[in-house]
Amino acid sequence: MKTNLLNYDLPALTAHFAAMGEKPFRAKQVMRHIHLGGAVCFDDMTDLAKSLREKLTEHADIHVPALITEQHSADGTRKWLLDVGTGNGVETVFIPEETRGTLCISSQIGCALECTFCSTGRQGFNRNLTAAEIIGQLWWANKALGVTPKNERVISNVVMMGMGEPLANFDNVITAVNIMLDDHGYGLSRRRVTVSTSGMVPQMDKLREAAPVALAVSLHASNDAVRDTIVPLNKKYPLAILMAACRRYLEKAPRDFITFEYVMLQGVNDEIQHARELVALVQDVPCKFNLIPFNPFPNSGYQRSSSARIQAFRDVLQAAGLVVTVRKTRGNDIDAACGQLAGQVQDKTRRRQKWQILERKEAS
Ligand code: SAH
Ligand code: SF4
Repeated sequence: MKTNLLNYDLPALTAHFAAMGEKPFRAKQVMRHIHLGGAVCFDDMTDLAKSLREKLTEHADIHVPALITEQHSADGTRKWLLDVGTGNGVETVFIPEETRGTLCISSQIGCALECTFCSTGRQGFNRNLTAAEIIGQLWWANKALGVTPKNERVISNVVMMGMGEPLANFDNVITAVNIMLDDHGYGLSRRRVTVSTSGMVPQMDKLREAAPVALAVSLHASNDAVRDTIVPLNKKYPLAILMAACRRYLEKAPRDFITFEYVMLQGVNDEIQHARELVALVQDVPCKFNLIPFNPFPNSGYQRSSSARIQAFRDVLQAAGLVVTVRKTRGNDIDAACGQLAGQVQDKTRRRQKWQILERKEAS
């Protein structure tokens, strides 16, 4: 089997070229061709010697996941479904806004963490995406969207808020993040790449060391009793432990903040008392809040909080001096809203198995 160079960040690509007896700058050249130029064929890299191109063609390839469908929403949101083999598909969404263009990418096929209000979580888990399959989403979207008239990339921000828990697929996510941040890759600044986690505490610590990008934490509840029921991972890493991890994450970058995501579920976590509890909970954590009106999906069993309730909740947080945004629902007509990404997940039976893997790994 050929080596897929899409799986490599710059250090790995440099090592690969060194093993071939090639200079490090070759790795930079090839990386630019792949990610800046969108090349999938070594023969198009005409600044490489023909002999090197032949050598590469023999043992390597640039294998991007195939595109299954592309959808356009009336509001400009776009969604791509990519083929990741054996009947599985993952979704990627582009959300244009006035001052930025955000790509929301997936990190796993399904998710093992079973948050009760999440369509991906309800589907079960199949497998981790490879680094090539993660960065392949940005590769496709970048190719489709290109640059603005001012020659700036249309995609200015990447959020790992699609299908899956990024920190449960740590190594591949780090490789993909490295490519996003690399000047020879997508050249995004650290603050324009956001990893969203439901609260995998040991991996949050590891992320801070490996690539301290912007961190979003899916909080969704103000106390352990409520969070235990909607984010099962809370039983393993309860709120006090999670808040301590958030504070540690910011130690290295004191000017940064945590974005707390909070899905508004009617009658579950949207009482005024919950808002007050939140204020106390996050008092030592520099943060912003993002209130997400629940996006329904078939048989979810939940309802979105009313706008009046969301506003009242926001007012309590704001009155305490917190910065709060209420997320606008985008791409509703193409099922591209937050938490609605379903993709195609075959063989969903591995969820329990995956949980066991997680338990074991962390115990060791
Ligand atoms: N696994 C990661 C990232 C993917 S989910 C995480 O949980 O953070 C991205 C965000 O969408 C999370 O905050 C998640 O809780 C939220 N979400 C999931 N289902 C939702 C739904 N049905 N409506 C609104 N937000 C949802
Ligand atoms: Fe997984 Fe995130 Fe969905 Fe929870 S909210 S099931 S962690 S994708």
